[in-house]
Amino acid sequence: MKKLALHWKILIGMALGVVFALLMTNFEFGKEFIKDWIKPFGTIFINSLKLIAIPLILAALIKGVSDLKDISKLSRMGGRTIIIYIITTVIAVSIGLVLVNIVKPGNSISDKTRTELVDGYSNNTTKYKEEASKQKESGPLQALIDLVPQNIFSAATSNRNMLQVIFFAVFFGIGLILIPEEKGKTVKSFFDGLNEVILKMVDLIMLAAPYGVFALLASLIAESPSVDLFKALAWYALTVVIGLALMIIMYNFLVFIFTKKRPSFFMKAISPAQLLAFSTSSSAATLPVTMERVTEHIGVEEEVASFVLPIGATINMDGTSLYQAVAAVFIAQAFGMDLSFGTQLGIIATATLASIGSAAVPGAGMVMLVGVLGYAGIPEAGLALIFAVDRPLDMCRTVVNVTGDAAVSMLVASSVGKLGTPTQKNWDDNYEVSKN
Ligand code: ASP
Repeated sequence: MKKLALHWKILIGMALGVVFALLMTNFEFGKEFIKDWIKPFGTIFINSLKLIAIPLILAALIKGVSDLKDISKLSRMGGRTIIIYIITTVIAVSIGLVLVNIVKPGNSISDKTRTELVDGYSNNTTKYKEEASKQKESGPLQALIDLVPQNIFSAATSNRNMLQVIFFAVFFGIGLILIPEEKGKTVKSFFDGLNEVILKMVDLIMLAAPYGVFALLASLIAESPSVDLFKALAWYALTVVIGLALMIIMYNFLVFIFTKKRPSFFMKAISPAQLLAFSTSSSAATLPVTMERVTEHIGVEEEVASFVLPIGATINMDGTSLYQAVAAVFIAQAFGMDLSFGTQLGIIATATLASIGSAAVPGAGMVMLVGVLGYAGIPEAGLALIFAVDRPLDMCRTVVNVTGDAAVSMLVASSVGKLGTPTQKNWDDNYEVSKN
C-alpha cells in the first residue's frame, strides 16, 4: 500500500491534537494531564529541531560558501539575496498597512472591551517592554557590533546568536576558498560530511513530526485563553490573516514568473516545513526542515540554499513585518489616534527594521513591535490589547516567514542557474530512512 505523504501525516497529527485537547478540557483533570503527560513530547520535539540548528548553519554555510570557489560569486549571490529579502519585506508591510486602513479593525473595539483587555493583560506585557527597552538603550550601530562575536564557542551556545554564527561560517568559508585547494581538502570534506549527517538527522526527527505536532497543538489548545477574547479581536486577527494569505499568493506568483515552477509544485514541496512552522512558531526550529525540503524536494542547489536560508530565517520575516504594521495601526485605531500618512510611511521603515531584528523564535515579533509603537507614538499599553491572539497569529506569520525564505531561495537559485531537479519525488513523499 502506498504510504501516506508526510504533510498529510502532520496535518492528521495536528487535527487529532486539537480534538484530543478539546475533549480533555471537558474533564477536570484534562488540562493538568495534557500539561504533565502530553506537552513534554512537544517540547522534546522542538528541542530536537533546535538542537541541530547551530551545527546545521555551521556545516551548511561553510560547505555552501566554499563550494562557490570564488569570492565574486559569493558577493553576487549575497547582494541579490539581501535585495530580494528587503523588497519582499517592504511589500509585506505595505500590504499590511493598506489592509488595516481599509478594514479599520480597531474602530470596532469599544472603550469597554479595550479597558478590559488592557487591564487583564497589562502584567504580561511588562516583560516585552523590558526586553524592548534594553534594545532601545543601545546605539545606532549596535546591530553591527552584535554581528561579530567575540568568541565563536560562546556565540554557538545560544540559538539567539544565529547571526553571529552565520557571520563566522561565511568568514570561515571565505578563508577556505582563499587557501590552496590541496590544503583545504580535509577541512572541506569534513564539513561536507557533517552537513550530510545533519540532513539525515532531520529525516529522523521528521519521522516523529506527526506525534510532535499532536503534542504541541494539544498543549496549545489546553492553555489558550477564552474564546470571548478571540471574538473581540476577530477583525484584527482576520486582517492579519488576509494579509498573510496575500503574501503566500505573491510568493507563488513570483516563483511562477521567475522560475516557471507551478504553485502546486512549490506548495506541495514546502508544506511539511509550513506545517512545522505553524506548530512550532519558530523559523529557527523549522530551518533544518526548510533546508531539506528546498534542496531535496524543490531542486535548489545546496550552495544556494545553505547560504540563502539561514540568513533568511534570521533576517527575512515578511509575516512578522506585516503583522507589526497591522498591529501598530490597529492599536492606534483602538485608542482613537489618527496616524498621518508620514507616520505610516515611517512604519514601513521601522517595521522592516523591526522584523529584521526579530529573533526567529516564538513571540519575538511582539517584542520588536514595541519599537514600532514607540516610533509612531502609539501607547505601549496597547500590547495588552493584542496579547490574547498573539500566539495563533505568531503561528500564521511564521508560516509566511518560512515560505518567503524558501521562495527567495528559488529566485536566487534560478538567477544564478542553480535551480535543478529535485532528488526526491514529492508524490512519493514518505520519509523512509534509507542507508544512502
Ligand atoms: N515566531 C516568528 C518566527 O520565528 C517571529 C515572530 O514572532 O514574528 O519566525
